[in-house]
Amino acid sequence: MTTWTAADGAALYGLDRWGEPYFGVNERGHVMVQPRGERGGALDLVELVGELQGRGLGLPLLIRFDDILEDRLERLHAAFERAIAQYGYGGRYQGVFPVKCNQMRHVVEQLVDSGRRWHFGLEAGSKAELLIALSLLSDPEALLICNGTKDRRYIETAILARRLGRQPVVVLEQADEVGRIIEASQALGAAPLIGIRARLSSRSSGRWGSSVGEKAKFGLSLPDLLASVEALREAGLLGELRLLHFHVGSQISDIAVLKDALQEAGQIYVELTRLGAPMGFLDVGGGLGVDYDGSRTASAASTNYSLQNYANDVVATVRECCEPHGVAVPTLVSESGRALASHFSVLVFDVLGAEGQHSRALPGPEADEPLILRNLRISLAAIEAASELEQWQEAWNDALKFKDDALAAFRLGYLNLPQRALAEQLTAACGQAIAARLADLPAGAVVPDELRLLPATLAATYYANLSIFRSAPDTWAIDQLFPVLPIQRLGERPTALGSFADLTCDSDGKLARFIDRGQVKSLLELHTLRPGEPYWIGLFLAGAYQEVMGNLHNLFGSTNAVHIRLQASGGYTVDHVVRGDTNAAVLKAMEHNPELLLERLRLASEEAIGNGQLRIDEASRLMAHLEASLGQTTYLQS
Ligand SMILES: *Cc1c(COP(=O)(O)O)cnc(C)c1O
Repeated sequence: MTTWTAADGAALYGLDRWGEPYFGVNERGHVMVQPRGERGGALDLVELVGELQGRGLGLPLLIRFDDILEDRLERLHAAFERAIAQYGYGGRYQGVFPVKCNQMRHVVEQLVDSGRRWHFGLEAGSKAELLIALSLLSDPEALLICNGTKDRRYIETAILARRLGRQPVVVLEQADEVGRIIEASQALGAAPLIGIRARLSSRSSGRWGSSVGEKAKFGLSLPDLLASVEALREAGLLGELRLLHFHVGSQISDIAVLKDALQEAGQIYVELTRLGAPMGFLDVGGGLGVDYDGSRTASAASTNYSLQNYANDVVATVRECCEPHGVAVPTLVSESGRALASHFSVLVFDVLGAEGQHSRALPGPEADEPLILRNLRISLAAIEAASELEQWQEAWNDALKFKDDALAAFRLGYLNLPQRALAEQLTAACGQAIAARLADLPAGAVVPDELRLLPATLAATYYANLSIFRSAPDTWAIDQLFPVLPIQRLGERPTALGSFADLTCDSDGKLARFIDRGQVKSLLELHTLRPGEPYWIGLFLAGAYQEVMGNLHNLFGSTNAVHIRLQASGGYTVDHVVRGDTNAAVLKAMEHNPELLLERLRLASEEAIGNGQLRIDEASRLMAHLEASLGQTTYLQS
């Protein structure tokens, strides 16, 4: 029998690969968070969740580690600084955060605050995002990249904001925008800094591959790009054309895709300077990927490059494009959202129960028990007593036969319902007894297929206090993978296989795709539940896109969220608490009036009291439940 340690747990769930350097396991078998990476300081996630619960913050709970966000920013800048030094690049790097990736107030504020020392800026794609960016970004050197489709008001806002000492760059995304920019500039007698988004022909791949290529939704084709340059020249605005932008789509898995795009964009940049534009900035967009499954491959949930490889390629390729032509290298801008914001958020949810785990105690044999049931008991005893694989296999085959016999006997009326239920329970117990023994076999033991596949046939559904539509919508919408694992008991061998069903009444409301080193598996190794003991699951790397894309399906609202900061002394502070939606809030979002709903029910209960169907104390209890619910979370309370 092999022993199982917390390190085995970490390896099983890939924690030692995708979790690096922020997530690991401690000697108690708990997930451990190192919000500052290798620079020291660790929090026990299980203890943290317990203490947050003590403060009245129930699960599901989104925990945001602001130190991780800051660390990601530092790593991004350090990678570009190293690449710039290594390749003797004569320019700088100056990034922006695409607000659409996570617009939550404390997140954007934190990024702006931590990014100040690098003049880190923001990218907006709509008027509302522009408003956030304009008002939060006060550093006059930081860039404010204005993307998205723009009407006259959007453009005028950007032009006028330049007078506030901001640096908005209005990026031409569509051919007809140049006319609006020219009109707005003439009307106001002032111009914005202008950028131009090129629609590259380089092929991409993966989920967002269609963001580039000649049919892409955004960016100017080369003929439109040239026509826009001429229009700006005629309007006397060419002197404001400073930036070339491209974006090859999110989660670039294969670095080769980026290299092609960089070469193409680099040449366009050179041509634009030749046409007389002052330029100065090359914005390589987003797409810097996240290694969700830790496999370091070009599969969709991974990347075949590191952050440093990415920075090196950007810096080296742009230099190679500019130098032979005697063109000064530009300031490099990137709009990395996913790579900055994924790691810092951890969603923790509780498991309410598990179906398929027959933990019910087996009733003892009765005197006149039918033969089929007696046979199943004999098989179970044989499995428990056996020590050889062949004996388990034989007993299991017998058990399957008896189970079929039980079904036939039930159909013909020879077994009653409790007897048939007991037959199923006994068969499952046989399977579980074998599965438990199999788990103890040394690695590499040869196991016959029908026994090897047995744990999967016993797979359990774990009921999660969660709505994936609210908290992890991309798992449903685009089959995205996130690392999911129990945050405790990692030092204990998981003996069950399972998947998660969420709270919604939607058959799509489930988590049933899990990371598997470049592959996908439909069942996750889990522990059997212990009565009265919570079983908490963490969904990691979920800080990008999930919150804003989440919806109110079945009226499950936002979860509680907290911002945690590591203290120098070793503890932590809870910097912000953002309470999840109440039932009243989600009702209002659907234009219901909670007070009115209550009042109708009050009248209905008065009527029921009047005709003797409801006692006054019952009515009062009903109204108390309804009123309390309105002010409380939409999730199940423990
Ligand atoms: C969405 C988007 C980004 C962010 O992409 P990530 O893959 O999250 O880095 C950057 N730029 C533009 C124009 C975008 O549309």
